[in-house]
Amino acid sequence: MYNSLDDIPATLLLGAGPSGVAPSTYHALSKSIIGHMDPFFIRIMDELKDGLRLLFGTRNELTVPLSGTGSSGMEAAFVNLVEKGDKVLILQNGVFGTRMVDVAGRLGAEVTELAFEWGKPVDVDRVADQLGKDRYKIVAVVFAETSTGVRNPAKEIGDLLKGTDALYLVDAVTAIGGIPVEADNWGVDICYAGGQKCLSCPPGASPITFSDRAVEAIKNRKTKVPNWYLDMTLLTAYWGGGTRVYHHTPPVNMMYALYQAVYNILEEGIDNVFARHERVHKHLAKGLAEIGWAFLVDEPYRLPELNTVVVPEGVDEAALRKRLLNEYHIEINGGLGALAGKIVRIGLMGYNAKEENVDRLITAMKEIL
Ligand SMILES: *Cc1c(COP(=O)(O)O)cnc(C)c1O
Repeated sequence: MYNSLDDIPATLLLGAGPSGVAPSTYHALSKSIIGHMDPFFIRIMDELKDGLRLLFGTRNELTVPLSGTGSSGMEAAFVNLVEKGDKVLILQNGVFGTRMVDVAGRLGAEVTELAFEWGKPVDVDRVADQLGKDRYKIVAVVFAETSTGVRNPAKEIGDLLKGTDALYLVDAVTAIGGIPVEADNWGVDICYAGGQKCLSCPPGASPITFSDRAVEAIKNRKTKVPNWYLDMTLLTAYWGGGTRVYHHTPPVNMMYALYQAVYNILEEGIDNVFARHERVHKHLAKGLAEIGWAFLVDEPYRLPELNTVVVPEGVDEAALRKRLLNEYHIEINGGLGALAGKIVRIGLMGYNAKEENVDRLITAMKEIL
């Protein structure tokens, strides 16, 4: 019998995710499965939670990996905090900001969408203005906007919110493990991430953290969390300390992989990992300059891990990406929404953030162009 799995090409993933996976993390996936109530698995869970706290820059007790991709983190963040009629301010400058608007709206939130030009960062002055007009239960922003390659001013927005009642919700899916995230210092109350971006884990786990203030707000809800699977009060009974109560069966081997992926970052040294992303981004900038391609985003707001590059006049970016994939086994991504056809997105995330991978890509682009 023919088994297609035998023929999966070794593709160099330099897109917006999934990113490349280290051999040690593949190896972790294949380790013997144990029961999800096994004391040894509990130990792995506890150590994993500690590792995630370091990556989030938090001491939050409620810090766990959800069984699901990054979007489950987004869903959990809103579904646990939003009740019908709650006022939510969403700062939107890309696809993932619009997804937040959709998620919060479905829960019956009264959403105010403050939109900014795609490719530009959120303007903090306009946010301050808006905060003067109304009181919000939640203010939400995507720190690293994967659709545009913009690093939003998450710290500065947090500064605006200090001393207010608003809960600060930050999407750190493409940030974590690539650029510093300091949830506690920035006053972030709810922050979630994803496994398959800079953590270099296969998709399937979404780390999330809630401040004590956010936990209080969940406790003070008038209505039940309208989603059983992502209800943090139920999940805490399994992931929390003390007696573990079965909720759902976590993807045990995926948790091994996430454990290993986090371990790899801490072993390399978290600051060394950030420096490597920065260095490899600069290497890409040099290569792109050689072929005359320019960045979409102004330098101070560029994400080293997700590079958005303007497609020059006369270049068919879809055809370029197709040849890169078919002939060179390199994946990069096109633009989304309004930026489709206008930019390409080059991810240099986690394990794949290496100079040699940039060289392979630039050489291939030169040959094709
Ligand atoms: C990828 C991504 C998500 C969604 O994650 P999935 O793993 O695709 O569900 C959410 N927010 C941002 C900023 C992302 O880059």
